[in-house]
Amino acid sequence: MEESGPRGGYPPDYARDEIPTISGYPGGQTAPTPQAIDFTPGHLLGCASGELGLCRFLEDRGHTLVVTSDKEGADSTLDRELPETDVVISQSFWAAYLTPERIAAGSRLKLAITAGIGSDHVDLPTAIAHGMTVAEVTFSNSISVSEHAVTQILTLVHNYMSAHEWVTTKKGWNIADAVSRAYDLEGIDVGVVGSGRIGQAVLRRLKPFDVTLHYCDVHQPGKEFEEEPELTWHPDPRWLASSVAVLSIHTPLHPQTQNLFNDELIGAMGRGSYIVNTARALIVNRDSVVLALNSGQLAGYAGDVRYPQPPPPDHPWPTMPYEAMTPHVSGSALSAQARYAADTREILECWLDGRPIRPEYLIVEGGGLAGTGASSYTVAG
Ligand code: NDP
Repeated sequence: MEESGPRGGYPPDYARDEIPTISGYPGGQTAPTPQAIDFTPGHLLGCASGELGLCRFLEDRGHTLVVTSDKEGADSTLDRELPETDVVISQSFWAAYLTPERIAAGSRLKLAITAGIGSDHVDLPTAIAHGMTVAEVTFSNSISVSEHAVTQILTLVHNYMSAHEWVTTKKGWNIADAVSRAYDLEGIDVGVVGSGRIGQAVLRRLKPFDVTLHYCDVHQPGKEFEEEPELTWHPDPRWLASSVAVLSIHTPLHPQTQNLFNDELIGAMGRGSYIVNTARALIVNRDSVVLALNSGQLAGYAGDVRYPQPPPPDHPWPTMPYEAMTPHVSGSALSAQARYAADTREILECWLDGRPIRPEYLIVEGGGLAGTGASSYTVAG
């Protein structure tokens, strides 16, 4: 679970009184359908004190909910509780890494739920061997992440961070300095790696910017993409990298994507390219990014993911030039928190009542990859 709560205290009033009701997603998947919720949509739920709004529901059913952000170190609360735990609910923002050792220590562990998307913090081969079910809340924050990725693409290309700094910390009106690295996105070749739920949403949002769009995915393009004449499919990430100036990463982290963006792949991009990574930090080589920004091979890097999370104080990315990083927030807007809290409750209700969990939420079940996991993940064999 994310850090304990807002350091400045809970807002006495939220900035907005309500959030829009979303009933479904592109492609027809419905929004979460729990039998009930015990929280106010639009309030903070994803931090430890927000408890995903699950406490009353679980306690009414006679279960104990332990909520903690203490997950590292020899005597962490997570490690102390694991032997007595049936279900671990974690977020990728403040991930409870379920390593082979931890899964072995959790002899009662049956279910791992990601309250968000991306289950790479669970060692999937060990979870399979242990007979566990792994589920995540597919689509709950996909649109949130796509909006954040587009924001960061524009931020980098327009050199927004530096211009903002001239107004705030530098107290200047230095227009020539502020625009000396600023460009328009219009006319540029932009691509995504991974054209799943988030990647497709990014492509759709970028289309009105009059850019040339590209994407790379393992499988053949879907019908809706074949009908899109301005969209180019590249089966190999190297072809994509050499064709675009802006590249946004939207694959899961799994053996085929780990360390994919190394010196060689970043070197295949044109000089002065940009990378945005809201997927997982280990998909890019940490030091290759620093090197490429310093040499000018990359003109900018943004995103919101690090490894591990939270990152150590000596992580090089906060001090590298031309970065526009955020902490892991893209999937945790208050709008998204309402959905992933409701989705988590839906999964728990199904699991406790012995009803099937929706296939789109499943990553591992029945001794193998299942549902969304079977199409989007691989396990090292
Ligand atoms: P989806 O499963 O919908 O899409 C993933 C896509 O990646 C699929 O189209 C899949 O292809 C493709 N893919 C998998 N492996 C490769 C590969 N080797 N090369 C090219 N494409 C590949 O996932 P989402 O779009 O919902 O999410 C993507 C990732 O974003 C998540 O796994 C998570 O890590 C990250 N994320 C980050 C968040 C944040 O807050 N920053 C929040 C939510 C997600 P196919 O299906 O054809 O095999």
